[in-house]
Amino acid sequence: MQKDKNGPMIQTLKNYFGYENFRPLQEDIIQTILQKKDCLVLMPTGGGKSICFQLPALLSEGTAIVISPLISLMKDQVEALKANGIAAGALNSNNNETENSEIKRACLNGKLKLLYISPERLMTEIDFLLKDIQISLFAIDEAHCISQWGHDFRPEYTQMGVLHQRFPNVPIVALTATADKITRNDIIRQLHLNNPQTFISSFDRPNLSLSVKRGYQQKEKHKAILDFIDKHHGECGIIYCMSRSKTESVAQMLEKNGVKCGVYHAGLTPQQRDKAQSDFINDRTQVVCATIAFGMGIDKSNVRWVMHYNLPKSIESFYQEIGRAGRDGMTADTVLFYSLADLILLTKFATESSQQSINVEKLQRMQQYAEADICRRRILLSYFGEVSEKDCGNCDVCKNPPERFDGTIIVQKALSAIFRSEQNIGVSMLIDILRGSFSADVTEKGYDKLKTFGVGRDIPGRDWQDYLLQMLQLGYFEIAYNEKNHLKITESGYNVLYGKTKAMLVTIVRQEFTPKQKKKKVVVEKELALSISATENENLFEALRTLRKELAAQEALPAYIVLTDKVLHLLSISRPTTIEEFGNISGIGEYKKQKYGKDFIKVIKQFVD
Ligand code: ADP
Ligand code: ZN
Repeated sequence: MQKDKNGPMIQTLKNYFGYENFRPLQEDIIQTILQKKDCLVLMPTGGGKSICFQLPALLSEGTAIVISPLISLMKDQVEALKANGIAAGALNSNNNETENSEIKRACLNGKLKLLYISPERLMTEIDFLLKDIQISLFAIDEAHCISQWGHDFRPEYTQMGVLHQRFPNVPIVALTATADKITRNDIIRQLHLNNPQTFISSFDRPNLSLSVKRGYQQKEKHKAILDFIDKHHGECGIIYCMSRSKTESVAQMLEKNGVKCGVYHAGLTPQQRDKAQSDFINDRTQVVCATIAFGMGIDKSNVRWVMHYNLPKSIESFYQEIGRAGRDGMTADTVLFYSLADLILLTKFATESSQQSINVEKLQRMQQYAEADICRRRILLSYFGEVSEKDCGNCDVCKNPPERFDGTIIVQKALSAIFRSEQNIGVSMLIDILRGSFSADVTEKGYDKLKTFGVGRDIPGRDWQDYLLQMLQLGYFEIAYNEKNHLKITESGYNVLYGKTKAMLVTIVRQEFTPKQKKKKVVVEKELALSISATENENLFEALRTLRKELAAQEALPAYIVLTDKVLHLLSISRPTTIEEFGNISGIGEYKKQKYGKDFIKVIKQFVD
């Protein structure tokens, strides 16, 4: 019975999107909407939210209205829909009036299955266009923008509270990747959702590797970044930085080393930002150095890595940012650089902010993640209220479990230097004293005369950074943020200093980035398990990638909209040689099968003997 009922759903999924199965929850969500009930959907980035409203739109009479906060997002989704042969359009200020009136006409004639619209435009059309067309559903994308508690509050979103009054019989589905409870309830309240069912999918993204690099100084960071990019030959990634100037300087460093790189931050003109974004989407640049302002507007599915040059200020923003990698379900890597200097600066911002206690708390949770010596994924998931039964095996802690040694003497040296300088020094001065550096600051204060001056010369500065972070985490000293960030020894610190207790430190691992895994292993989703005996032909993959690039250029579309990286990998493993076989590949619907089948098969045939 159940199966029959879902027959048309699966059929539509296969026809238009080329997928055989729904992901968890998608099916329930779609059914709820088809029953004209409201719902709230929480799924991580890349979780597959779009299909939750696109499929009901296809299965219902009339047009689905999708409210989306960013023009670039609308563009991306409309292009992707059209590339699957689905009639979709967007009304926004980027179009000229002729384009907009054409789209309106198509709506009035019932020709569009999905209409994307900005919240402002929605309000101006509410008494005109919307009154005259048959609306199948409202989908509110990035719904957290309605809430001041969310991190992307948009005042225009709050006006959407009237939708239910005006269209009492049209179901509303609100979707977001931001999970926290206050925001969730606020969305329901403000949209006046009618007894909505809330769907929360797992926030786990097992295809994202997690790692933290602790205590790196700028030069070491740069070396590590170049090394990392080198190992990700030609693959796209994003580097998030805390400040605008940092994005610029990191980009310069990369360009100097031959990496094609764009910059994105709020200080640029809209034109400059659009260019940076479209260069990245269309693979003209490999890397974008960006502040948090970047990423919300893109659905680029082949971002293969995300780095955080600086510590993010909350786990929500961190998770959303790393979530921009690996949307196609293929392996992607994430790296966070964690330094004391960042922690100090962010703590200052948080304590000076208007919602002090919330922000400090959020930062502390971020700090816990960065300092973790248990599986990092478990920390992330538990933050989002999920319990995980076992370690993930795909984070640096799981791969290289920390080893401890008796570091009492190291800790004593540091604490003693803090003590002898009367606890009036910060981290960098402390390292100068330990390393015996005659910097101006040191000699001016006479710290070069201290008994501890130079006692830590045998340990490089970078390792001191690391050990000091560990000592902070172990609670041997605190940072007095209101006293120029001076270090103050705690009671347990005194216990180590006076030899009453031992201090166990984690051994610093020198190993940098491990070489990339063989391509064969990179696909995590189960489709590939079926063809496990087949191996990937890398030359074929490259040939397919070149073809995709040509086709994308002809149509002025981003390559990943033509076919995703994952589809290319599937093609180069199973090597279909007929149109039918080509159409059986997950991710190729009827439309793409007819449109691209011939061209790809021609290339594949050259590699099949
Ligand atoms: P979100 O909007 O939640 O960030 P998307 O809707 O962009 O995520 O989906 C992410 C990726 O997952 C897309 O490439 C999409 O085609 C793919 N996807 C969605 N649903 C399925 C499914 N049932 N099977 C396989 N892939 C899917
Ligand atoms: Zn782990």
